[in-house]
Amino acid sequence: MKLTWKRLRIRPKHRFATSQWATDEKETIVVRLEHGGVAGQGEIVPSELYGQSLESAEATLAAVQNDLGDDPFRIEPIVQHLLAKFDGQRATIDGLDAALHDWCGQKLGVPVWKLLGLEQPRKQTTFTIGVAEPELIRVKVDEALAAGFDALKIKVGVPDDHQTLAYIRSVFKGPLFLDANQAWKPQEALARIPELARYHPTLIEQPVDRRDWQSMAELRKLRVAPIFADESCERPADVVRLHGYVDGINIKFNKCGGIREALRMVALARGLGMQVMLGCFVCSSLSIAPPLTIASLVDYADLDGALLLAEDPFEGITRTGGTIQLGDRPGLGVWARG
Ligand SMILES: [Mg+2]
Repeated sequence: MKLTWKRLRIRPKHRFATSQWATDEKETIVVRLEHGGVAGQGEIVPSELYGQSLESAEATLAAVQNDLGDDPFRIEPIVQHLLAKFDGQRATIDGLDAALHDWCGQKLGVPVWKLLGLEQPRKQTTFTIGVAEPELIRVKVDEALAAGFDALKIKVGVPDDHQTLAYIRSVFKGPLFLDANQAWKPQEALARIPELARYHPTLIEQPVDRRDWQSMAELRKLRVAPIFADESCERPADVVRLHGYVDGINIKFNKCGGIREALRMVALARGLGMQVMLGCFVCSSLSIAPPLTIASLVDYADLDGALLLAEDPFEGITRTGGTIQLGDRPGLGVWARG
């Protein structure tokens, strides 16, 4: 297998911010895997929060470049080998897992969702409104609703929360997800969350520090909305550990390492009676296609990373209102915009 990669520069349409950080522009890495005249692609979206960077991703790729063997159909053993060797670099494993699945689909002439025995992916996604000044929030919300989005995710955990949410609820009655990205101290969360009940949130994501599972269990008891773990839940073992502390988990492929690990997390969560959502970072649609491929298995999707971009370098995912879908093209079903 021949493995090559290059950096990709992407820019959100509006500065994208949470209670913890902001992005005006970022780089990801596109990996390309060639074998027997067929090529598969994947995108690596490193996150500092999980000890990943562009540099660590490139170092990992260089280390595995001659170590992938000569049979891309061996996805599971290859991914297991990568997980054993590069456990902390799961964003890179995600990109490679995507490229392997893409290659197999391309080679066989079938979409990856069909290869996995799943329904054709067609899923409502939330559109995320990042933290911003009240005037910009209005612009973003109005744009999202005009574009037909019918479920919103709002980044909370800042002093303007009520002003933002009151405006949104004055113009939008649909599903509303709230994500605090660990912003609140435990006592603060206990006071704030009951005040949020008036906005009728569908769920509340990561209200407190990612290590503070006990507080999430306390917040569940308020019964304002299901409490979801995002930053607390990186990989399959976390699902087991979080059982009883939260109602649901947010699976992101750059945290867990791609389709294989995500399927294990879905199976564990389902077995334990937990709800599941699929999330993403700001990225191109090359890294939306893998989670969208398995979206028929989960309760909620927050797969808007590429929809937040000024220009998406990849195409193939279509959108009708707030629903995104993949077609019948072989592989992951996305390709570089010509
Ligand atoms: Mg989140």
